[in-house]
Amino acid sequence: MDWNKLAEALIPDENVKPLDYYEEKYPERDLPKGAQVTRLAPSPTGFIHLGNLFVAIANERIAHQSGGLMYLRIEDTDLKRKVDGAVDAVKNALRYFDIRFDEGAEIEGAENAYAPYYQRERAELYHAYAKELIKRGLAYPCFCTEDELSALREKQTAEKKITGYYGEYAACRNLTEEQIYENLKARKPYVIRLRSQGSAENKLTFRDEIKGDITVTENDQDVVILKSDGIPTYHFAHAIDDHFMRTTLVIRGEEWLASLPIHIELFDLLGFRRPKYGHNCSLQKIDGDTRRKLSKRKDPELSLEFYRQEGYYARAVKVYMLTLLNSNFEEWYLKNPDGALEDFKFSIGKMGKSGALFDLNKLSDISKNELAKLSAEEMYDFLKTWADEFGTDVQKGYFADKEYLLKILTLCMGIGGKKRRKDFTTAKQAMEMIAYFFDDSFECAYRFDAATVKTVLSGFAAAYDYADDCSAWFDKVKAVAAANGFATDMKAYKADPTAFPGNVSDVAEMLRIATTGLSNTPDLWTIMQILGKEKTLARLNKAISAL
Ligand code: GLU
Repeated sequence: MDWNKLAEALIPDENVKPLDYYEEKYPERDLPKGAQVTRLAPSPTGFIHLGNLFVAIANERIAHQSGGLMYLRIEDTDLKRKVDGAVDAVKNALRYFDIRFDEGAEIEGAENAYAPYYQRERAELYHAYAKELIKRGLAYPCFCTEDELSALREKQTAEKKITGYYGEYAACRNLTEEQIYENLKARKPYVIRLRSQGSAENKLTFRDEIKGDITVTENDQDVVILKSDGIPTYHFAHAIDDHFMRTTLVIRGEEWLASLPIHIELFDLLGFRRPKYGHNCSLQKIDGDTRRKLSKRKDPELSLEFYRQEGYYARAVKVYMLTLLNSNFEEWYLKNPDGALEDFKFSIGKMGKSGALFDLNKLSDISKNELAKLSAEEMYDFLKTWADEFGTDVQKGYFADKEYLLKILTLCMGIGGKKRRKDFTTAKQAMEMIAYFFDDSFECAYRFDAATVKTVLSGFAAAYDYADDCSAWFDKVKAVAAANGFATDMKAYKADPTAFPGNVSDVAEMLRIATTGLSNTPDLWTIMQILGKEKTLARLNKAISAL
């Protein structure tokens, strides 16, 4: 067989150059010893998820900590799954978590010497190497139709054989030169397959940077390397790209472990030195009695967009991811609660070997703690950024009077008090929590009968003076309580609770509900100070007339 002639006939790409050209065009990177080149290589499906962030953080940390770099490559070989705006979605989602790419697809200001970073724009390279494999007898055209392939699968399943295109089942593997040219002449569509040199009888041991030594069965599948439209498959494209982008370390999800034998064979046959691989454990959750992988269909928290939309504080998410990624992070964080996360020494050796348990409640606790460290100004900025993008028009209006909102935040965060309050979990929840300062359309649900509440509210409204300090204000609450038979002396109340309709805190609760709609809020006197005399009285009067 004249393989050179066949290669020309199968891949008539005029752009293809001798292989040395590519080696020269994309030389080894000039980086200090030990510096790692890592990448994030998402497919532009529009769905960027927590698993992507999980590996992005690890790749970013290791690259930058070692004096290396991380780039963004878009794996867009599968057009069916491509979604417009998906690259922006990836960049926005990762920018939110401060993941910095040094080069790559649409990374402005970068040198981008290893461009293009979209696989669709790299056809020339894939064609050059597919040709090379054909010339060496290591790849061949396959004319099997979809129907033939499914019939093969059925036959293999019935015979309890491993499914796929390999060995004796690889019908086109041994086509004669004549048969091939006949098929080409008949314009039969074809894919290019690898002529695998491996055998399922052989095992190979591979060192995974995260999981340690792993023994796998050699690849013997004649996988497709170029599809019928000349577009490569992921397996083939990524091997060429990782080589020519001079990637030294690939940290990716463990779902890729099953394809590793194919990747090892491809690197070997292409004559490329393999990058180091680390397969990261999956994110799991407890669901009833079972522990399962986070799922796109069932778990909204898998999508990174969820965290932006809900307004999770990015540092909190990163802290939680780092807690799950590196077993010694938690200890470091306890010692350095306010430290820059870049100061933590991330280590690949401390990454978990098996599934990491993701618990949204734990993230919420971290988020509460992190938000409680902010100043009122910082919280204002955080909420504003969220509201600008995701808030309702009413919520956007909260920012019209900055002084007013700062007072609210100071109170709700317990700034200046004995202890910081930890009421805020996310921006969205915080905005909902302070809504009563802006909106008096809330319902009031009291625990006492309407007549009692009405007299209490009226009595207080008549006595209310905005100029009262906290203690004069409380004296008035007590006076209204006493006038309505409520206990003001807690000792007396505890000695015989049945002797009273309630105590002074029940009265305060009525006032609180009338003013805010809530039975639990920060200090009510301060709330009334922030609302101001008019709004406070208007709310009390509205509540009275509603009874
Ligand atoms: N394009 C693959 C994905 O979407 C990337 C796999 C890898 O990192 O090698 O997950």
